[in-house]
Amino acid sequence: MRSKLDDLLDELNDIDEHPQPIQMRNQQPLAVQTKKNKSSHREIDDLLDLVNDIDSPEPEKPAYVPSYQIPVSNSSRLQKCYPLCIGGSNLEVGICFSSASLKCCNKMRCTKCDLSVKRYQNKIWKDGCNYLFFRNNYSRDDMLQPALADANGFCAYFCQCQWRNVNEPVVLRDNQWVCGGHLGN
Ligand SMILES: [Zn+2]
Ligand SMILES: [Zn+2]
Repeated sequence: MRSKLDDLLDELNDIDEHPQPIQMRNQQPLAVQTKKNKSSHREIDDLLDLVNDIDSPEPEKPAYVPSYQIPVSNSSRLQKCYPLCIGGSNLEVGICFSSASLKCCNKMRCTKCDLSVKRYQNKIWKDGCNYLFFRNNYSRDDMLQPALADANGFCAYFCQCQWRNVNEPVVLRDNQWVCGGHLGN
């Protein structure tokens, strides 16, 4: 009587003798497998498309901009005066890099009133100017002019809370007037 083992052995022999059918038999699952792979590739493609959609940069942010450049704001590209200097009308204006070549900062801000420091060239503030006068007239040239007197070589500086007359380079340290930063050079 044939055992199940015999049957199995016979089957194995068949397989050994006829390798072709094995391939035939294997082809079907292979084909299915390939089809499966293709469909999963499609799924991956779809997922990648989704990810790309999510990652798509805003129109104003080109895709080639490295991520480390994105947080850089305009203010961090500004260069600041060191030392910070103001001076009379003869002093060159611009960013100051060296105490050996002082320049008058033209981008000063006041940290107290948070407004730009402005100046009139070859002018000084007359006696009698006070805090309230600048507080009320900071941006009113017509009101400020009458408080100025001609003074060759001087500059009359002011913000909304402070004012001073200067006729030679003065380095400002620990001052409420600070360099607000210069774009480029
Ligand atoms: Zn400056
Ligand atoms: Zn001020």
